Amino acid sequence: MAAAALIRLSSKPSLSSAASRVARCFASAPTSQAAPSSSSPSSSSPPLFAFSANPSPARREDPEARNVQWVFLGCPGVGKGTYASRLSVLLGVPHIATGDLVREELSSSGPLSLQLKEIVNQGQLVSDEIIIRLLSKRLEAGEAKGESGFILDGFPRTTKQAEILEGVTEIDLVVNLKLREDVLMEKCLGRRICSQCGKNFNVASINVKGENGNPGISMDPLLPPPHCMTKLITRSDDTEEVVKERLKIYYEKSQPVEDFYRRQGKLLEFDLPGGIPESWPKLLEALNLDDYEEKQSAAA
Ligand code: ADP
Repeated sequence: MAAAALIRLSSKPSLSSAASRVARCFASAPTSQAAPSSSSPSSSSPPLFAFSANPSPARREDPEARNVQWVFLGCPGVGKGTYASRLSVLLGVPHIATGDLVREELSSSGPLSLQLKEIVNQGQLVSDEIIIRLLSKRLEAGEAKGESGFILDGFPRTTKQAEILEGVTEIDLVVNLKLREDVLMEKCLGRRICSQCGKNFNVASINVKGENGNPGISMDPLLPPPHCMTKLITRSDDTEEVVKERLKIYYEKSQPVEDFYRRQGKLLEFDLPGGIPESWPKLLEALNLDDYEEKQSAAA
């Protein structure tokens, strides 16, 4: 099902080089934090990524024979989680957000929890080693349950993470979501999470005028159903000061990841035109999935 979508996707000009690339060996990730850019396996130290996606060589070398392996990039608040989770439902692959993995660890009483709290509340990035350990654990658990394919959200966030990921599996497509910075701030400040079901909502009503040639943008609030309304919480890192720091860190450390995938011809740039009602159909169109969604809805 998802593979069919990928076949049609690979006819998109922006993806043609992704479709024709040579599949890489992923037997082992680069094993040393000190030498992250090497993709050659090392025999002396244990691999950072214990997980190895799609162990059958035939499947991993043929992107059309397996489920999609996509990455969502974009600044804090842009909507990576919203669109990645919708696409994961449509394509039948898990949506894996490293921010969620970090928050799960934070809310546990595990040994990492205190250390992570300080880092996250200052808007800093968690070390590559910790984040890869969390992601690897999640991917392994998914594989044990029979999951195949993924949409990653919030990973990779540094070039080093991108290189490590490339050493273990093939990424088919990277969607780079973009939105004006003043809107990003409003969206982060309006973000709420239901403490019970974990779903994300937004209470901000955004209406900014066009300026300097940039179009205006309006977004209605994404309000929760009544049973979540009394359980809404705000993320401790969604304060103005911390969001500014997260944006700064994004430009410094995560924007180079866009270039990493742009050079490989895998980056699909997508400027969000507004809220979900305007953006979702346009995103499906950009991904060549508009017909696919119609067929899925008709079959349901
Ligand atoms: P955002 O809204 O900034 O995209 P996320 O929910 O993705 O937030 O992440 C929350 C926090 O978790 C980040 O600010 C960072 O501290 C940590 N984090 C998430 N993913 C990564 C990653 N790939 N590398 C390092 N730190 C990460």
